[in-house]
Amino acid sequence: LPYHEHVLADAVDRGDALALVDGREPGGTRVTYAQLDAAVRRLAAGLAEAGLAKGDVLALFSPNTVAFPVVLYAASMCGAVVTTVNSLYTVDEIATQLRDCGARFLVTVSPFLDRAVPAARAAGVAEVIVCDEAEGHRSVPELMASTAPEPRVSIDPATDVAVLPYSSGTTGRAKGVMLTHRNIVANMVQTQSAVRLDPGAAVVAVLPFFHIYGLATLLNIPLHVGGTVVVLPRFDLERFLALIQEHRATRVSVAPPIVLALAKHPAVDRYDLSSVRIVLSSAAPLDPALASAAAGRVGCRVIQGYGMTELSPCSHVVPDGEENPPAGTVGKLVANTECRVVDPATGEDTEDVGELWIRGPQVMKGYLGRPAETGATVDRDGWLRTGDLGRVDGDGHFFVVDRLKELIKYRGYQVPPAELEAVLLAHPGIADAAVIGVPNGAGDEVPKAFVVRGEDAGALDADAVIAFVAGRVAPHKKVRAVEFLDAIPKSAAGKILRRELRARERRAAAG
Ligand code: ATP
Ligand code: MG
Repeated sequence: LPYHEHVLADAVDRGDALALVDGREPGGTRVTYAQLDAAVRRLAAGLAEAGLAKGDVLALFSPNTVAFPVVLYAASMCGAVVTTVNSLYTVDEIATQLRDCGARFLVTVSPFLDRAVPAARAAGVAEVIVCDEAEGHRSVPELMASTAPEPRVSIDPATDVAVLPYSSGTTGRAKGVMLTHRNIVANMVQTQSAVRLDPGAAVVAVLPFFHIYGLATLLNIPLHVGGTVVVLPRFDLERFLALIQEHRATRVSVAPPIVLALAKHPAVDRYDLSSVRIVLSSAAPLDPALASAAAGRVGCRVIQGYGMTELSPCSHVVPDGEENPPAGTVGKLVANTECRVVDPATGEDTEDVGELWIRGPQVMKGYLGRPAETGATVDRDGWLRTGDLGRVDGDGHFFVVDRLKELIKYRGYQVPPAELEAVLLAHPGIADAAVIGVPNGAGDEVPKAFVVRGEDAGALDADAVIAFVAGRVAPHKKVRAVEFLDAIPKSAAGKILRRELRARERRAAAG
């Protein structure tokens, strides 16, 4: 089956059960399963009539809204490929992506038209459609009024691309990742082997839909199992907490900055979060001490999953049934997935720390238009090189250390910045921190910390930070320089942008 048919398989039977809620303000739009199913069919007819054909790329450039999944599934019904565009992108960045994937249609919201229209023009996109209303553009409601028949296209789940999310661009240029219908359905089934979500359970969709982790809310199990997706257009801690309280959410998917807020932000105590059983963190390394602080404060388990865009997106998660996983684990392999730990120096499997290689039905078809990069990432036997370092214990619990490319190389040692970031966050006066390697002039790199002072920082200065870390790590891992910032640069999906910090360093060094 195409993935959207799998997601919506029981939608008609669920009738008046709530599928989507606009969480922007109390009393926001509510969409039942029957309405969602009908809206998808009507919009698919309208899009097909407007010329969207099998294999065409439709770009979706929108904050999280209740219309987003309708457009996503309707395009899939037409056999089109949906690519999602980062809401923060500039005109040039949008145009680059649209050109890279040859998008034919761009669907957006009226407040984004000032960026969408010039980008679409520059990239030769045929039509810009709005989800709401705007002069001079056809709208989703107008297309839904079409009386054309529903499109009937035949889809080959194994080879036809369903979605084309772009990787985060954390380590370089963002790459278009081709995920087939089979990739997505496989990951849905695999997730179900580890994660239970009851019908009627609310999922607060706070992570951006344009990134694979947020998009998974729509591609993976929530709507398939009958959950209610409460949609939040941007991260607003208080609104997020209020929605958890109002909808009695039991499971929330977040990224480490939200765990940081749950552990440290005063607002958390003002809400009743007693319904929450599990907070799932993914997308970047999570400090175990922070996880347990957040867990204690909310009164729930804070667990991790591991994934990447290329994995549709999940390969590891702590199974729901496991009450006491070891601290810091990203979980066990999901069903039907293999993972090797390979020594980057020898290419042989190691029982120690090594690069994680993953094989399974969720491994992407490839990077769009980049056969060389695809070949360098997925080998002939189907193993995907993640670029992440990790290890596995005797019980099959995996641990991710950091990205291979971002290790700090000092005198033959390799220092993971994430480890030092966790040490820094343990200081009560530090609200947030990031670490990179900077050249020390002797051909080595040394750790430099970027620190955001918290409310209890007092007279915290660079020497105090250096001494704090020095008292807790081996000598070769000592932080040798400190700079104070107002905020750590992070991606919309919650990843520390060490690349930006390195660029800042280079600019400073160049004077
Ligand atoms: P790009 O590939 O474009 O440089 P990216 O790798 O950040 O960007 P994503 O696919 O969004 O793009 O992110 C996948 C990466 O996120 C993984 O390779 C890993 O480095 C990181 N990650 C995901 N989950 C975890 C986790 N639980 N712990 C540590 N890191 C994680
Ligand atoms: Mg990556």
